[in-house]
Amino acid sequence: MKKYQNFINGKWVDAKSGQVFENRNPANWDEVIGTFPKSAKEDVNEAVKAARTAFDKWRLVPAPKRGDILKNVGDIMGARKEEIARTMTREMGKVLVETRGDVQEGIDTAYYAASEGRRLFGHTVPSELPNKFNMAIRVPIGVAGVVTPWNFPMAIPTWKIFPALLCGNTVVFKPASDTPATATMLVEILMEAGVPEGVANIVHGGGSDVGMAIVEHPDVDVISFTGSTNVGIKISEVASKTLKRVSLELGGKNAQIVMDDADLSLALDGVLWGAFGTTGQRCTATSRLLLHEKAYDKFMSMLVDRTKKLRLGDGLLATTDVGPCIHEGQRKSVHSYVEIGQKEGAKLVAGGGAASGNGLSKGWFYQPTIFTDVTPEMRIAKEEIFGPVLSVIKIKSLEEGVSVLNNTIYGLSSSIYTKDINNAFRAIRDIKAGITYVNGPTIGAEAHMPFGGVKQTGNGHREGGWTVFEFFSEWKTVYVDYSGKLQRAQIDN
Ligand code: NAP
Ligand code: MG
Repeated sequence: MKKYQNFINGKWVDAKSGQVFENRNPANWDEVIGTFPKSAKEDVNEAVKAARTAFDKWRLVPAPKRGDILKNVGDIMGARKEEIARTMTREMGKVLVETRGDVQEGIDTAYYAASEGRRLFGHTVPSELPNKFNMAIRVPIGVAGVVTPWNFPMAIPTWKIFPALLCGNTVVFKPASDTPATATMLVEILMEAGVPEGVANIVHGGGSDVGMAIVEHPDVDVISFTGSTNVGIKISEVASKTLKRVSLELGGKNAQIVMDDADLSLALDGVLWGAFGTTGQRCTATSRLLLHEKAYDKFMSMLVDRTKKLRLGDGLLATTDVGPCIHEGQRKSVHSYVEIGQKEGAKLVAGGGAASGNGLSKGWFYQPTIFTDVTPEMRIAKEEIFGPVLSVIKIKSLEEGVSVLNNTIYGLSSSIYTKDINNAFRAIRDIKAGITYVNGPTIGAEAHMPFGGVKQTGNGHREGGWTVFEFFSEWKTVYVDYSGKLQRAQIDN
């Protein structure tokens, strides 16, 4: 069994306490992938110290040069894609095509960040005074604390770490305890690509120990967090005590609207992929289907039929459509929502229990589950379940669909299937979400587009695209007076 370590100041080290935790395969809980350091505040302190020292040099490396290193990162990640994807499937369960996609998103993010090194545009603006030059330039912030979830173990860390580094910041990274092996591979690649020592550090361990120690640390200047809304709120409270900049990407309760004029087989492929891909464990998973009454009976019979044919299993097998839940606690939580749905009076038309059978007994498998007769006020219509459970709500019109879609505290992703251009544009205008897909499922973000949500899905920042580079840099306003005399703004002009 492999013993993994933290990476601090260019060296692989154990936790100071010497303690470790295990990482297991959710498709076969007997399989231990490795042990990882169970770190604490004292380890975080070392990492922050290293990152703070390294910042003094890294910020002076020209941004295009930093970009060249990220280009190397993308190249190495490409060469190791299959190996990373397999490790990821073993440690968190999603099927190989999806873990390959997760790595590809990291590669795309690396190349995008590399090219941004030759942009990082500022502004020059005319001065109100003669012989004076005004500009606003982008400067690094300092030490970035990065705390990430387990469902996109490569993509999400890269969305944060690559732009942070490109902008000239140094990083202390705490990955999810469920996916530390993929995170370690990312750090190995950063080192191999030429990221100098101290610039990127990884500290493994629990959220309330290591994660919180990073958030609290007075020498960490900026926090980028993706995870649950509850933890996000806690982080925001604690970070406010040192006035850190914080980006929060949190939960979702995403819906797909299917209008009566939609291409139903297209909408069917979309909802199956959206609801049951990654075993429903995506922040952008399709958790609600808002189905027009005129398409209802036909669509539901197709949907139930296809759902029952989905094959559960080890994500490494080519025959598997849906992998396990991440761990026992998550499967229990999913099942408790199924019980809530039944108590609320919704009708179970597919799944509804843990899955057993050939090859499933040692993993945390749950049957792809569908509820019909769901009303907008039920908890299963409003709360994030984070598992393979779809709540179906019948709608009579686009207006009703949009209103039900908006009836949640979240606002991450959304989708509408329609052939009517007017419906599509009304939906784009009226849906309250950070992302709207037309004739596509709620999942499918591209690395060069802004990603994030409204309402309690986040705090207004966006990852991805050009927007994340704004988050990881400060504006510095510069005035150069070449008049040779004192010129007073607002007074002498
Ligand atoms: P989580 O429990 O909030 O954990 C996320 C990360 O925060 C993990 O690294 C975790 O460490 C750490 N953490 C936990 N408690 C902490 C604390 N008190 N202080 C600091 N850090 C702490 O979320 P999860 O279960 O891993 O992920 C599922 C959630 O993430 C869902 O709600 C999902 O919607 C959301 N998500 C959102 C997006 C988005 O972009 N909007 C993307 C993916 C997932 P440990 O692993 O050690 O507990
Ligand atoms: Mg695991």
